Amino acid sequence: MSLVPFDDRDGSIWLDGKLVPWRDAKLHVLTHALHYGSAVFEGERVYNGKVFKLFEHTERLQKSAEILGFKLPYSIAEIERATEETVAANNIVDGYVRPIAWRGSDEMGVGAHNCRIHLSISTWVWPSYFPPELRQKGIRLCIGKWKRPDPETAPSHAKAAGLYMIGTLEKHAAEAQGYTDSLMLDWRGYIAESTGANIFLVIDGKLHTPIPDCFLDGITRRTVIGMARKHGFEVIERHIPLEDLAKTQEVFLCGTAAEVTPVGEIGPYSFKPGAVTAALIADFDAMVGRVPA
Ligand code: PMP
Repeated sequence: MSLVPFDDRDGSIWLDGKLVPWRDAKLHVLTHALHYGSAVFEGERVYNGKVFKLFEHTERLQKSAEILGFKLPYSIAEIERATEETVAANNIVDGYVRPIAWRGSDEMGVGAHNCRIHLSISTWVWPSYFPPELRQKGIRLCIGKWKRPDPETAPSHAKAAGLYMIGTLEKHAAEAQGYTDSLMLDWRGYIAESTGANIFLVIDGKLHTPIPDCFLDGITRRTVIGMARKHGFEVIERHIPLEDLAKTQEVFLCGTAAEVTPVGEIGPYSFKPGAVTAALIADFDAMVGRVPA
């Protein structure tokens, strides 16, 4: 795979109030966020030139910052406008958007009251998060080792950079064993989510999904719950023990990057993407205005 490094591309990035040439969007090595994980971010998708659920994502960015104890220097409306400006400037029709806010380099040490808050917004074309050839039979997940932490141990409800440390460890471990991703359990041992998407199980025609009490309550997750109920499927939010996978017929992941992705295997358990998953993929495609292939 030939990679174009993310710091060496054409285009522009919105940084602290204005668009700058892509390669100039740099920061200093003594940036608080780099040393202490004080950054929050979002992942958004652009469909037909429009950011899907832009308000919801921007509001979550603001909430994540609040959870980490800082205030974004721009209003939600200003960030929404900046996002649209960035997408337009880079001519993105179908792509991904990454806003990130972080504590800067004005102070070193754990305490950071004097660090100014920075915000950048980048966008690029990013078609399919998981290999498209796996979308038919479903991706393969291993069962992870690291646990989603108790909300008394980490700011679980923020989309905070530091929480992804165990995600990267899991993703690497999964790929090293030939899996696409990892199913992470929570600190109590219940099914939580993958490294970057929420999970749904179909058991006897009903949808079951974990209560997001110690991991991200995805915007796509909420969208899927709404679509499923509209479709007439019952949705049950509960704590789900791993053993419930033995009586599960279908599994899918959902998230901004993952969209709705069928899962064919989780460790020793296998599933066949079926009618419920197919119906929800069709509903999702319709909602984002994608013409079926
Ligand atoms: N969990 C994690 C850990 C994620 O990174 C994401 C992607 N943002 C999700 C769930 C799904 O959230 P959303 O649907 O809001 O993208």
